[in-house]
Amino acid sequence: MAKCPKCGAPISPFDWRADCKNCGINLMTYNMEARLDEDEKKAEAEYEKLDELIAKFQPRIDAVKNTGKKIKEKLKRKKNP
Ligand SMILES: [Zn+2]
Repeated sequence: MAKCPKCGAPISPFDWRADCKNCGINLMTYNMEARLDEDEKKAEAEYEKLDELIAKFQPRIDAVKNTGKKIKEKLKRKKNP
């Protein structure tokens, strides 16, 4: 049987009202708000993971950039000895 997400009162499947008769919250919007909250948390966690990934690869990216600079400098030196 379904339960009120706020007070835990059982909700009859034959009760089609959108409000909990125990605490009076709107079951439709309460569920929606809870889901949005969860989505936000998930998005935050994903963003944190991405941030960690970037932080992990940043030294390598910098290393590649530095190597590129060195190669360019070498080429310049070859052109203008
Ligand atoms: Zn309730």
